[in-house]
Amino acid sequence: MTNPPVCNYEGSDYQTSFWDKGGREYEDRTEAIALKRLLPKSGRLLLELGAGAGRNTPRYLGFDRIVLLDYSRTQLEQAQQRLGKSDRYIYVAADAYRLPFIAGLFDTATMIRTLHHMADAPKALRQVKNVLGSGGVFILEFANKLNLKAIFRFLLGRQKWSPFTLEPVEFARLNFDFHPKAVRNWLQDLGFAIEKTLTLSHFRVGFLKRIMPTSILVFLDSLFQWTGACWQLTPSVFVRAKIVRLDPSRIPHDRPDHVLFFFKCPNCGHSPLMDEKEYLECPSCKKRWEVRDGIYDFREPIKN
Ligand SMILES: [Zn+2]
Repeated sequence: MTNPPVCNYEGSDYQTSFWDKGGREYEDRTEAIALKRLLPKSGRLLLELGAGAGRNTPRYLGFDRIVLLDYSRTQLEQAQQRLGKSDRYIYVAADAYRLPFIAGLFDTATMIRTLHHMADAPKALRQVKNVLGSGGVFILEFANKLNLKAIFRFLLGRQKWSPFTLEPVEFARLNFDFHPKAVRNWLQDLGFAIEKTLTLSHFRVGFLKRIMPTSILVFLDSLFQWTGACWQLTPSVFVRAKIVRLDPSRIPHDRPDHVLFFFKCPNCGHSPLMDEKEYLECPSCKKRWEVRDGIYDFREPIKN
C-alpha cells in the first residue's frame, strides 16, 4: 500500500517554540473565537485530527469524549501531560491517510493547521468523511494560497506561483497552501455541505502585532471573521461542513461505548480487534498494534 509522505512532528518542540514563545497569542485567540462560533454545543464523541500537544483540546467543552489523533507520539505525550489521563481523552498515534476507526463512529471531527501538511488532501478528507456518522460535522482549517500578501507578491513579480489557480502550492517541504475553491470542491464531492466559512488572521502582520495590543487585534479579527462568508483573502480559513449524503455502504454501526470497539485494523480494515493489554491484535491479518502508557499506536505494527 503506497501512501503519501507524512509530516512528522516526532521529538519536535513545536508547542513551545511556535505557540508558547513564538508570539502567536493573537493567532491562538482568534482560533478560540472561531471554534466557539463553529463547534456544535454538545456531542458524544469528537475526533481531533492533528491534535499535536492538545492546544485546542480544552476548547471542546460540550463533548463527552475526545479522541486526540496525531502522527507524532511525542506530541501526544505532551498532550497527555497537559490534559491528564482520563476516560474523557483517548490518545491515538496514527496516519491520517489510514484512520484506524470504524465507519460512522464520530459525530464531529476537527482538523486545524493539519491539512497544511497533507500532500494528498482529498485522500485525507475522504478518511474523515468515512469515520463521521450521518449528519456529522467537520470543522476544517486550511492555509489559504489566495491571501492578500501572496496576491501582491505575485502581481509585483516577487513570487513565481499564482495564488489564483486551484492546485495546492508546496512552499516548503510538506507545507501546503490551498485555494478556497479547491477545498470547497473536494468537500462537496465527498458529500459535505458547507454551512459556514470564517476567515482568520486578518492582522497577521509583524509590525501591527508589535505596535497594537493583542486584545484589540483579536477583537477586530473577530469582527472581520464573518466576512469569510463573502470572500476569503486571509492566510487562514475555517469552514464548518456537514455530511448531507452517506453512501449506503457507510450507514453507521451502532455506535459503541467501549473504546476497544472504536478501532479497526488500519492494515486490513477488520474490526473488532482483540485486546491483549500491551497491544491490540487483528484476528484477520494478525497484525499487532501497540498500546503503551495510554497511547494507542497504529503507525506500524509491532513484531509478533
Ligand atoms: Zn488486520
